[in-house]
Amino acid sequence: MNKGEVGSRRRTPLLAGNWKMYKTSDETSSFVRELASIVGPADGRDIVVAPPFTSLVEAKRSAAGTPIAVAAQNVFWEPEGAYTGEVSALMLVDLGVRYVIIGHSERRQFFGESDAAVGKKVAAALSSALSPIMCVGETESEREAGRTEEVLARQVPAGLVAVRPDQASSLAIAYEPIWAIGTGKTATPEMAQEAISFVRAQVDKALGPEAAGVVRVLYGGSVKPENIDDLMAQPDIDGALVGGASLEVASFARIVQFREL
Ligand code: PEP
Repeated sequence: MNKGEVGSRRRTPLLAGNWKMYKTSDETSSFVRELASIVGPADGRDIVVAPPFTSLVEAKRSAAGTPIAVAAQNVFWEPEGAYTGEVSALMLVDLGVRYVIIGHSERRQFFGESDAAVGKKVAAALSSALSPIMCVGETESEREAGRTEEVLARQVPAGLVAVRPDQASSLAIAYEPIWAIGTGKTATPEMAQEAISFVRAQVDKALGPEAAGVVRVLYGGSVKPENIDDLMAQPDIDGALVGGASLEVASFARIVQFREL
């Protein structure tokens, strides 16, 4: 399957597990070691686990010498200061963290994260050489009202407001329809493709065609071993952000090992 170029994938697939508020550091260590032993060198795909902050150090230690990279689930935009409870991009880089999930719908919904805050976090991450996985997506009522594109046309440029075109290759955008997160309802591969190609068009509008050709756009929302192959067969889907199915090592390993159809 070609991604943006005839003959070979131009964008390396990215499979990321968002563990949310699950797993202690001991559980993190066993999971990462077992995942590494199942997936082996995993050539040609980027594998990421995003444990809670408290397990980042253990995740990094267990992933040493394996292809597994570590992500945080949030970051603050200031480098340091009187911001109780927050963690900066520099602090994450200092631990060896490579990616950060920004603007997940749970953060937007439960912690009031705005489009403007997402834009500042994305910029702060990129300026510290941390790769953002920026989440966007519509609610069920927005989809039913035919407003999916309107939501994406607002969220994507707001998140990219301070991004330069040459930074696009370090950025991933996860299209996660909120009605599909943790519900068992997955968007069909065709629905996901349609929304993701619209997301890519927004990147083109904001940053130009070259950036739109290199930015990785992932699908998230009840991704499972049973649906990953069909999702990855879509031309604009460059990977997956996985919640529930990333908590169990066998199921996340199968997702990482998706088959080209
Ligand atoms: C998520 O939390 O980003 C997610 C997609 O969750 P799930 O896979 O459980 O729907």
